[in-house]
Formats: sequence, C-alpha cells, structure tokens
Amino acid sequence: MGGQPLYLEPRLETRLRALLASPGLLHTLTDALGSPLNLVVPDQLADNVQRFRSVYGTHHLAGQVFLAHKATRSSALLRRLAATDAGVDVASLGELQHALGAGLTPDRITATGPKNPEFLWLAARTAVTVSLDTRGELEQLATLVRKHTLPRTRVLLRLSGFETSGVRVLSRRSRFGTGMGEVDPLLDTVERHADVIDLVGVAYHLDTTSLTEKATALEGCLRVLEECRSRGLRPRAVDVGGGFGVDYLADGGQWERYTTELTEAVLGTRPPLTYGGHGYGLRNEGGTLRGRLGLYPAHRPVAGARYLDELLSHPAVSLGGRPLAALLLEHLYDLHTEPGRALLDQCGLTLTRVLEVRDQDAGGPLLVRLAAKADDVALEEHGVLMDPVVVPREPAGAGPGTGTGTGTEPVAVHLFGSLCLESDLITRRTVFLPRRPEPGDLLAFANTAGYCMDFHATRAQHQPAARKVAAWQEGGAWRWCLDDQYWPTTPVGGAQ
Ligand SMILES: *Cc1c(COP(=O)(O)O)cnc(C)c1O
Repeated sequence: MGGQPLYLEPRLETRLRALLASPGLLHTLTDALGSPLNLVVPDQLADNVQRFRSVYGTHHLAGQVFLAHKATRSSALLRRLAATDAGVDVASLGELQHALGAGLTPDRITATGPKNPEFLWLAARTAVTVSLDTRGELEQLATLVRKHTLPRTRVLLRLSGFETSGVRVLSRRSRFGTGMGEVDPLLDTVERHADVIDLVGVAYHLDTTSLTEKATALEGCLRVLEECRSRGLRPRAVDVGGGFGVDYLADGGQWERYTTELTEAVLGTRPPLTYGGHGYGLRNEGGTLRGRLGLYPAHRPVAGARYLDELLSHPAVSLGGRPLAALLLEHLYDLHTEPGRALLDQCGLTLTRVLEVRDQDAGGPLLVRLAAKADDVALEEHGVLMDPVVVPREPAGAGPGTGTGTGTEPVAVHLFGSLCLESDLITRRTVFLPRRPEPGDLLAFANTAGYCMDFHATRAQHQPAARKVAAWQEGGAWRWCLDDQYWPTTPVGGAQ
C-alpha cells in the first residue's frame, strides 16, 4: 500500500457509535430502502439544544436558540425541535411553511435571507420576526403591512461591514445586511414606520471561523443598539447568527499528520495522496508551495456551544475590555443564536452500498464504486475530509478477501460515485480503510445531517434521491420510521 495509512477517523458520540455497532439494522434498512440512505437521530438535536442552553445559563443570558433550517430538510428533526424550547430560522417560503407545519409557533421563528413577496407576506401575516437586509426591504415590508392591514411586525436589522475603532479594519464582505455606514438612514426609516414596524434589535451572520471577527461584529451591534436607545427606540435583542462549527474528527494528531503529508505530496516529496494529484488549493510552483488549503478545519476542539462560550467570554476591546456577555447582561439584551451545522452535530449519517471493488494493475489504490453520487454525501463539497466507516455485510473475518488486502489489512482506496461522469468522485482524497471493503458492504459517512445530506442532493441521471429515516432508541433497541412519518409522539417514551 506504500507507507502508513493516514486515517481521518470521524468523531462519534454515543448515538452514532451505537448505530454503527448495529450492522444488521443498517443492512436491513438499505436492503429495503436503497442506497444511498440518510439516517437522522432526532433526540441528538434536543441534546445539542441543551448544550447551547447551558452556555446561556453560564453567562446568565436570556434569549432564543434558532436552528438555521437551511442546513437540513428533515421533517423529523424540525418536529423534534418543536418539542424542545428552541426556535428556527427560516430563509424561504417553503422553510417557513415547513416550520409552521412542524409545530413551531411564530414567536419561535425568525425569517432571514433573500425574501420574495409571498415569503414576506406569510411571515408578517403569522407575526414571525423578520430579519431585514436593507432599507429597501424595510420599506417593502412597511408597505405590505399597511396595504394588507397586517399586525405590526417585529423586525431585526441585519448589519454587516463591521470595523474596529482602532487601526485594524475587520470587515468581511457580505452580500447580506446593511453596511455600518448606512445605519443612520436605516434608523430614520425605522422611526418613520414605527406604526407598522417594531424594532426588536440587530443581527449579523458571518461565515467565518474567526472569533475576533465575530467579537468585532458583536461590539458593532452593541454600539448600534446604543444609538437606537439614544433615539428613543427600545431594542431588546442581538442575534449573532450561526457559524459555531463542528469538530468532525476524533483525533487532532491524525489531522495534523494528514495536512503535513498532503503538503509533502503536493511538493512531490512523497507519493500522491489524491486522485489526479489534486492539491485542495495548494500547488507546487517550481518546488515552492503556493496557494491556500481550501479545507474545512475538520478538527475543531472549540466548536459548537464551546465556541459560543468563547465568544461571550471574549473582551469587548472597543467598549472597555469587559467580556461581551457582561455587556449583554448589563443592558438586559436577549441573545439570539442561529446555529445550523453545530446544532446538527452528530444528528445523522449517510449509508452507501459498495457496488464494485477493482484492483489497479500498477498496484495503486483500489477503485471502489458506491451506489451514491458525490452530491449525496457532499462532505467534499464542504471541504470536510473524514473517513467513512466500513459496515461489513458478513461478520468480521468471514469475507472472501481476494486480491490485495486480505480483508483484515488496511487498504488505500479511491471512492467513486455512480454517475457516468469523470468528476463524480465521492472524495478526491485517497482514503485509507482498516480493511478491504467487499461489494455488498456499506460505507457509512458519519455526521452528514448538517448540509451534507440535503443541500446538494439531486436526481441527476434519474438516480434516486436518498430516502431518509429517523431512528431512536427505546428500551435498549433501535426503532425507526420514514422521516416524514416521525412525530414527537412516535417514540413511545421518547421526546419528553
Ligand atoms: C447559514 C446561516 C446560518 C447557519 O450557519 P451555520 O454555519 O450552519 O451555523 C445562520 N444564520 C444565517 C442568516 C445563515 O444564512
């Protein structure tokens, strides 16, 4: 195989670990419902909400945790969410209808993102809080509310283009939100429409892993809230968006080692680690490493609720240096969060069946073809490098073990999808597996509930879109139903 295997093992918490330890169930499900198959575990979502809540508790803050709906299409997860005290952030008419139908009441819903008139009308009609991008959108909403005599609508103002007061300017460009330079005319407009618009507070969402950038944005929001109060407005909340992240890998050492070796492979000082010498953004220019590694930082010990904790503990540099949480508390501002990926951590996995395992003449990595398209797994699309778990059809040791690898030794493989398309690679990375997979085995991609299983799924080439199953534990055994059959009443003794 050449060198030591470079594993990138997924981080598995109790539920996913238990599911993967139930090969009989996983094979029965894929035999019946086809490959690929998505499994979601709704009870995990409730636990994740609890983790965010406990950070609120630590900092004595009130406010709401809103799941960013765009990260999942699952009905089971939304309905399970409705059985907690959390809310949902919707970004389309369809998502709003789905959330209302799942039992989330309007006081637990915010509407963000690009809005068409129907979306805006249903949001205002049902008294959902609307996060407004621009002054134009505010005018549009005010006109709509007057024309259709709708209730006075609660709004958040989404801001962007934050800067520190010092020399260093930190202003990530965003398509969304009103730039800090436009805040005054925006607040003038809010005042002009005070009869139909109720300003709840301000919001941001930054797609970055940087804590300092987010802290700068939060400070910017606190300053705008002060400005609102000095105008006699009564804002009471700040919404810090999502982007808390997920720790995908079990072992930071494996990640360090992999990225180091990838760099060496790009420089040609070790054998390639990808199909066709792909460099994930890195390239070799005459022996010098250029470019930037375009990958998700798959090992992130400070992710999810812990990331929120760090943000809240971060000093408000431009506002006296006390922790941001202390300033929120002092003004009794509610803190709203909109985690997508982080709330869906450990909430599901994608099962794919191995169709073909082919040896290469030159003894290179095995070519493994799966009954799934790259878009069904989409970890690669998100730059997340993480090994699948082999779920053998036969019990350990019983496999035939032909060709290279005896079925008990590690192998290097390239994973291909089922489309008739050169580029349908599940991942461009050479994947190392602890044993040679056989046709009929399953490869389970863990932790795909956030974005990966739904966001890119297509029906290209008339191939089926994956079905989705909700699973839960009852008296030590796994129970399941189709995603759209799941309600919090389904699991007997389940969702409390
Ligand atoms: C996408 C999005 C989120 C969620 O982002 P994650 O990275 O999944 O946490 C939250 N808020 C808004 C406005 C978004 O667009």
